[in-house]
Amino acid sequence: MKPVVALVGSPNVGKSTLFNRLTRTRNALVADYAGLTRDRIYGNVDEENCRFILIDTGGLTEQTDNMAELMRKQARLAIDSADLILFVVDGRAGMSAADQSIASMLRQDGKDVLLVINKTEGEHRDIVAAEFFALGLDTPQVISATQGRGISELLQRISSKIPSVTQEASELEANDDEIRLAVLGRPNVGKSTLINRLLGEERVVAFDEPGTTRDSIHIPFEKDGVQYTLIDTAGVRRRSRVSETLEKFSILKTLQALEDANVVMLVLDAHEGIVDQDLHLAGLIVESGRALVIAVNKWDGLDKTEREWVAANIERRLPFLSYAKTHFISALHGSGVGLLLKSVRLAYQSAMTKTPTSRLTRILEDAVADHPPPLVHGRRIKYRYAHLGGKNPPRIIIHGNQTEATPDSYRRYLENFFRKSLRLDGTPVMIEFKTGD
Ligand code: GDP
Ligand code: GDP
Repeated sequence: MKPVVALVGSPNVGKSTLFNRLTRTRNALVADYAGLTRDRIYGNVDEENCRFILIDTGGLTEQTDNMAELMRKQARLAIDSADLILFVVDGRAGMSAADQSIASMLRQDGKDVLLVINKTEGEHRDIVAAEFFALGLDTPQVISATQGRGISELLQRISSKIPSVTQEASELEANDDEIRLAVLGRPNVGKSTLINRLLGEERVVAFDEPGTTRDSIHIPFEKDGVQYTLIDTAGVRRRSRVSETLEKFSILKTLQALEDANVVMLVLDAHEGIVDQDLHLAGLIVESGRALVIAVNKWDGLDKTEREWVAANIERRLPFLSYAKTHFISALHGSGVGLLLKSVRLAYQSAMTKTPTSRLTRILEDAVADHPPPLVHGRRIKYRYAHLGGKNPPRIIIHGNQTEATPDSYRRYLENFFRKSLRLDGTPVMIEFKTGD
């Protein structure tokens, strides 16, 4: 499982700047939907030898919309479940009273804390470090988040303090012949009811492992000759009533499930329509790049007008999930449930496509013949060939001359062209450009 690192500190010390610097690699898929990235507070850091989930707890506590209360709880939860806290302070402003009170709170928690002194460009590191000596924490890491100073050292120190998970290790764990399906949705949309339907039995939820806010239950099952592992994020909370409200919607658990899955089933509640929490979840799913099937549950008991309204509401509020197939179901009565797994298999196959370079290059040539790329500074962008650079989601890498100048509209055209030609269904597709070989 990926370790969790939390950024903690007063406002304005540079937490979100540092967050953006460390998580830079994952932005490609969400770039088109500015609204989704606005409140990005959870991200993946995937450096070689240093992979973890990063949380900006500042973003959590400073939220002002109706998610504020939930977010405050999540901040506490994030700190509780983190493997390491990065306590960020402002090196130019010097030590503040707020820094001291945060330090004493962290000391009480007994968490592993790394003090990060930011905004130190042009300053002598020993002098800055001495200023914060009174906080009583270990040797601080001196950085500048805007200039990039001390960042690789910071990563090294983080990796020495957290359990290491390499890319290869997590890929080895995943068995290529089984579909790892995470069922996600906010509380009460009907995830557990649906899971019981899919498994075809009333499952007894009486596991002995201690449930934490990061664990999901993994259930292997077989259907029509296909092996699945179902990742159940809803099950754990039933065991520990005490902290039920906190555990009902744990973003961390969601992120871990997204890491583990290759396909996600997002469950929505037709009776309630799309609410902010659904949008938030949808944003995390898009960002993960996982394949997706949408199940609009509780379709029973709605009349025609209501159904039309719900369907329109989904299209209007979740346009960025248009690559996913939507099913209208009733988990309670079983209608529509039988078809879900077919879409899951299709999405999985699409996400794992192994199309050879020759075929991708032919499709690229067809796309260009139908509709040539625009001129950039009076010269035409020249594409030479395309190859597959990764799966889940498929990454199509296009080589040629000044390909990076490809405008966004043309990138989208190519993406759709590849999607149609390869019959990719239920997975995002990433198009990347390279110049030269
Ligand atoms: P947060 O409230 O802790 O998330 O802080 P932000 O990341 O929003 O940063 C607050 C301000 O500090 C912004 O104007 C940043 O541009 C600035 N800032 C962040 N990192 C640095 C740094 O390394 N050096 C300097 N000089 N300014 C920084
Ligand atoms: P979870 O929190 O997402 O796991 O949701 P549950 O499976 O516990 O379901 C929450 C409530 O919704 C329960 O009272 C279910 O009986 C009800 N429910 C689940 N599926 C359906 C459905 O298809 N139709 C209707 N009308 N109610 C449902």
